[in-house]
Amino acid sequence: MEFRYLGNSGLQISEITYGNWLTHGSQVENDVATACVHAALDAGITSFDTADVYANGKAETVLGEALKGQRRESLEIFTKVYWPTGPDPKGKNDTGLSRKHILESIDGSLRRLQTDYVDLYQAHRYDLFTPLEETMQAFADVVRAGKAHYIGVSEWTADQIRAAHGLAQDLGISLVSSQPQYSMLWRVIEEEVVPTSEELGLGQIVWSPMAQGVLSGKYLPGAELPAGSRATDQAGGANTIKRFLGDDVLAAVQDLKPIASDLGLSMPALAIAWVLQNKNVSAALVGASRPEQVGENVKAAGVVIPEDALAAIEKALAGVATTDPALVAESTPKQRVV
Ligand code: NDP
Repeated sequence: MEFRYLGNSGLQISEITYGNWLTHGSQVENDVATACVHAALDAGITSFDTADVYANGKAETVLGEALKGQRRESLEIFTKVYWPTGPDPKGKNDTGLSRKHILESIDGSLRRLQTDYVDLYQAHRYDLFTPLEETMQAFADVVRAGKAHYIGVSEWTADQIRAAHGLAQDLGISLVSSQPQYSMLWRVIEEEVVPTSEELGLGQIVWSPMAQGVLSGKYLPGAELPAGSRATDQAGGANTIKRFLGDDVLAAVQDLKPIASDLGLSMPALAIAWVLQNKNVSAALVGASRPEQVGENVKAAGVVIPEDALAAIEKALAGVATTDPALVAESTPKQRVV
């Protein structure tokens, strides 16, 4: 495994970070989830990403159980706050980035993860209905209470990141990371988020680097969906992956196979290695539904993709890759969600 500094902080994280969205507490049984976490540890992964909302708290619980007995100082654990989590009925304040929701949510996350602190606490989305000053003050208090070491954001625009960074500096805390979607098929951060983050010293921890499995090449145009894949998971995955399942996208992805093969890489490894070529990326956040996938995916660590192969990838996906920076915050809730 290779390690990178998270932005300009002193925290090193494994450049392949294991994430448990849609899998733990949901698509896969707990024993498989635990086996995936142990496969990640065996492969040298030390950084783990989750969120309170994944499987409504169960993903944090499963991860906490799977990491039990590991030396805490040798792990980097990241979680997130924003979306309503917990039993129904939920209250008006069980959402967003208000002081109340942040201070209550961190305690729930720590309890489920069975740890005294997280290394990185991230705002899962931007809150259009809470003053940013209130949010950053609450994050500063979480840090000063020793419950989180660093603060990050997820799916924020360049302007939102700049504003939060200024406030964090005034409060004396470190805003070190941005967690956006980024893959060969979804490149919307390149124009604004990446240059701003480079200027301010934030690193990207990028999600769905394999476009949820599509860049593994296992979905074929016009063919049946592979059994047991995310695209067949009616509990959530089938809906989130569908934007990448058009035949035009799937056909273009098949054109990557000779490029991967010339480099001696599998398709999953090529997809993950591709996001890691961007120097502002601190880690590729990779999911897995089976332990064997973890072993395959970590082969991307340390790979350098030559310029001619990068150009060939660009050409193969030119008609299907999304680059519009206006789509960065497309999933920011425009109304309060409870
Ligand atoms: P990926 O793009 O890495 O997709 C992972 C999925 O692809 C797996 O669950 C598996 O699904 C399939 N897969 C993985 N490896 C292989 C392989 N070698 N061969 C074939 N198929 C493979 O990432 P995710 O979409 O899972 O996201 C990763 C993490 O990013 C999440 O766990 C979470 O931590 C974070 N995230 C953050 C978000 C945010 O808003 N901040 C949003 C979404 C994710 P299957 O086998 O079922 O087909």
